[in-house]
Amino acid sequence: GSQIGFYSKALRENILREMLLESEMQDSLKRDEFQIYLQPQVLLGSRRAGERLRAEALVRWWRDGRMYALPDEFIGLFERNGSIVDLDYYVMRKACELLQFWRANGLPPLCIAVNVSPLTMRQAGFEDYCCRIKREHGVEDGEIELEFTESIAVQDYELFRSVLDRLHAEGFVCAMDDFGTGQSSLNVIQSLKVDVLKLDRLFFAPKGEPERQRIVLAAILSLARQLHMSTVAEGIEDEAQVEELRELGCDYVQGFVVSKPLPVREYIAWIEGKGTWKQK
Ligand code: C2E
Ligand code: MG
Ligand code: MG
Repeated sequence: GSQIGFYSKALRENILREMLLESEMQDSLKRDEFQIYLQPQVLLGSRRAGERLRAEALVRWWRDGRMYALPDEFIGLFERNGSIVDLDYYVMRKACELLQFWRANGLPPLCIAVNVSPLTMRQAGFEDYCCRIKREHGVEDGEIELEFTESIAVQDYELFRSVLDRLHAEGFVCAMDDFGTGQSSLNVIQSLKVDVLKLDRLFFAPKGEPERQRIVLAAILSLARQLHMSTVAEGIEDEAQVEELRELGCDYVQGFVVSKPLPVREYIAWIEGKGTWKQK
């Protein structure tokens, strides 16, 4: 053909590293080497009675007392080789176990958001698994949120719609993750009843004209409000952005400005110390 491929040492090292991660994953699952970290999502408006604390579960791969690999290195790989399904199910089970522990220890009501890969959602029996694991751990309605990406909604529209119906009926909260990075953002929310819209940090990255950026942001937040969706701004790193989001009526913020993802123990210390972070 007319194409040329270049091979380098780095390419070879990458392939070897991927093969290593692939071969170790199942063993690590059995040995509980994947841990969930919690990143707080804090409320910007005033708290309604009975409102839960919120956090996203983000997986971390630990081995021999150190961080072995980051999600950016292994999630894509596991999506390609299919083992992401096992990891997603594992994280969901861990989140339910954590909620059980939460109740036993009288900690304040919490909603944990769990990421779901497109491949996982497409599994026959996905909703059954979610319902069974929720029931087995005595998890209450509203305690687990499932985050789906926009690409699911675009590629598997009908399936996603029926999955949403079933999950809603079973007491799950459903969120659209990384909103604004896909190709069909507005189509998606016009017809799919997700409860939470997570605005990707691309929306907030300083670029172009700030005034135009603000107009788009304001319109999306207003749209979400009118469609009765909560909004979470992701990847927020500075106070000025928080103030702007508060003014524009965004509901929650998640990002390093509040806290990085924390091991469970540290998350508990965090809520005990400053759970009402800058709440007005
Ligand atoms: P995501 O679901 O959009 O999660 C948010 C990511 O942004 C996390 O990266 C988080 O650490 C990072 N982040 C949070 N605040 C900030 C900030 O202020 N600035 C910047 N620059 N980044 C921030 P993480 O933990 O490395 O995860 C990356 C992605 O991996 C996640 O993106 C999610 O798509 C995927 N992922 C993580 N855990 C799981 C899992 O259990 N299952 C599946 N399917 N995917 C997962
Ligand atoms: Mg997410
Ligand atoms: Mg996201």
